[in-house]
Order: sequence, then C-alpha cells, then structure tokens
Amino acid sequence: MNDPLKDSFGRVAKKLRISVTDRCNMRCVYCMPDNNTEWLSQKNLLSYEQMIQIVKVFTLFGIEKLKITGGEPLIRKDIETLVKGLSNIDHIRSLSMTTNGLLLKDKITSLKNSGLNSINISLDTFDRTRFKKISGVDGVSTVREAIMAAIKEKIVVKINTVIMRGWNDDEILDFVKFSRDTGCPVKFIEFMPLDGTGIWSKDLVVSKKEMMDKISKEFGRLFDLKNDAADPARLYTFKDCIGVIGFIPSITEPFCQSCDRIRVTADGKLYGCLFDNRNHDLKCLLDNSKSDNEIYEYIQKCIRQKPEGIVRIIRNQSLVPNMNDMYSIGG
Ligand code: SAM
Ligand code: SF4
Repeated sequence: MNDPLKDSFGRVAKKLRISVTDRCNMRCVYCMPDNNTEWLSQKNLLSYEQMIQIVKVFTLFGIEKLKITGGEPLIRKDIETLVKGLSNIDHIRSLSMTTNGLLLKDKITSLKNSGLNSINISLDTFDRTRFKKISGVDGVSTVREAIMAAIKEKIVVKINTVIMRGWNDDEILDFVKFSRDTGCPVKFIEFMPLDGTGIWSKDLVVSKKEMMDKISKEFGRLFDLKNDAADPARLYTFKDCIGVIGFIPSITEPFCQSCDRIRVTADGKLYGCLFDNRNHDLKCLLDNSKSDNEIYEYIQKCIRQKPEGIVRIIRNQSLVPNMNDMYSIGG
C-alpha cells in the first residue's frame, strides 16, 4: 500500500462510494426534483471497466470498503457484472449497495452470488398512501417483499430511514419494532439540505436527541454499541439486545471531523464532501488513457482540498435548501 489519502485536516479517507447512475425510478421529496431532471447522457457515464480501474487505484491508498449507490443503482444494466468485477479486486474487504428496493427482489440472489456482502434498503414509511406521497410510487409492498427476500438470502440487510417532521416522524416507533421483529438494523437519517425539490427547512429536521428520547420512553434505555468512531451511524440496542437502531445526525451532531468517506459520481467526478460544490474530473483522465500512477497522484492532490464539511456551513449559519443534489452525488 502507498500513502493513505489524507486531507489538510488530517482526516484519512477509508471508504469510497461510487454512484453508477443519476437516474431513478422514484421521486423522493427529500432527494429528487419532480420535474425536468436532465440526466447524464450515456456517453458521459463511466463504463464498468473505468469504475473498476478507478477503484483499483483507490485501493492503493488503502481503501477497502466500497458502496455502490446512485440514483437507483439497480436500474443500471447488468449491475451484477460490475458487482462481480469490484468484488474480485484484491484488498476490497466489503462491498455493499444502497437501493430503494423496487427492483431488488428478483436480483438479490444474483447480486449476492456476484459478491455483494451487504445491502442498505431505503424505506421511510409502512403506509401505502404515504409511501406514494414521499416517493411518487405505489411501491411499499414491493419494497417490503424485497427486504424479506434479502433477509431470506442471508445477506446483511440494513434499513435507511429519512425522518421528516410531519411526514413520517410518527412512525419512528414502528421502525424500532420492525428492527426488533426482523433483526435488521434501522438507521434514522436526519433530513439534509440535499433535496432537489428545495423543501428543506430546519423545522423538518427531527434531531437524533428527539428521536432517542421518543424511543427510550417506549423501549427503555438505549445501549451504545460502541461502533467504529469514524462511522457516522451511532448504533444502539435495547436492554434485551433485540434489535439495532442507528442515527445519522448530520445536522444536529455533525461528524465531519471523523469523516472517512469520499465519493465518485456516475460521470467520474470525485467529491470530497457531500456539501462541496467543487469536484474533480477523473473520467477525463481515464478517457485520455492516463496511467494508474498519474490518476493516483491526481486523486492525492484533490483529496488534500477536501473541505471541513457541513460543520463550517452550520457555524456560518448558511444552511439553505438544495445545497447539492443527493441523487447525482450518491448518498
Ligand atoms: N436510490 C437509492 C436509495 O434511495 O437507497 C440510493 C441513492 S440515495 C441518494 C441514498 C440514500 O440517501 C438513501 O437512503 C436516501 O434515503 C438518502 N437521502 C436522499 N436524500 C436525502 C436527504 N436530503 N437527506 C438525508 N438522506 C437523504
Ligand atoms: Fe431515488 Fe434514492 Fe433519491 Fe429516492 S433517495 S429519489 S430512491 S435516488
């Protein structure tokens, strides 16, 4: 291994998220603009070969954990081919995917057989009408069936739930029960201003503290599972150790000082931070047949410029809706 990928704040990147498309078969209100999205054209997308080449270069910096995301990753053709290619890379210890689950049920076996280790499935409500209101699709039973299929397949399954005040915060306890019934960890994510719709406001954010208070009132004291300090999800269980819940408190308890993530978009742009508007073009290097060594040096230079993160924006009181597009950077 060569030098680790260190930024100017001394943080070392250890996890890479690679988005395979900006397109999606849902229109979640907290993410995707509901009209006129201009998608990346096919010719601007990284090919699977290019993604594999980039990931191989990242492993030279000690990156071992990889997440495939989007847009909706399962709408990209032959995604299993990519999963297989990535899982065969030496040094990749963990390969996961985040999906909305709509197309998952029929693909879960082939994804697992191709080398996928774990899957995060997004689900924000158990209610059919509400699901449609949040995502634009009448899909709650399809997603629930996919979750059950994934559990049956014995792949690691985690649920991502974005909580928004007045939209689904009355279902927090139902999600806790779901975790206790199924054994799937549920991660509650604070609503971030990465919404294509521009609806974000502080009033819609339900804090980790508020959620924890509500949960412990009903289920008793929560026990910290003492997970990886760099993992933004703080995980907890209950007195009887049944069920696991986590929180991603990006707004009320930002974790930028321990951030170990970097992101590459479907068109090969490298982002150091979800809240950074600058990016660095890796596709251009690949299209011009630059060597792995040249790409390596470029990545190192870019990561040094990783900004402090959302903490600085909060400090400056400059949080506003739609600061960046989650669907194109990848969550
Ligand atoms: N389409 C896939 C999905 O929904 O799981 C993968 C991409 S999505 C951008 C990745 C994750 O980001 C999802 O769990 C989604 O709920 C979350 N997300 C999207 N917009 C968000 C926002 N504004 N605030 C917090 N989380 C958000
Ligand atoms: Fe699509 Fe995922 Fe964004 Fe929802 S959160 S619109 S499923 S990319």
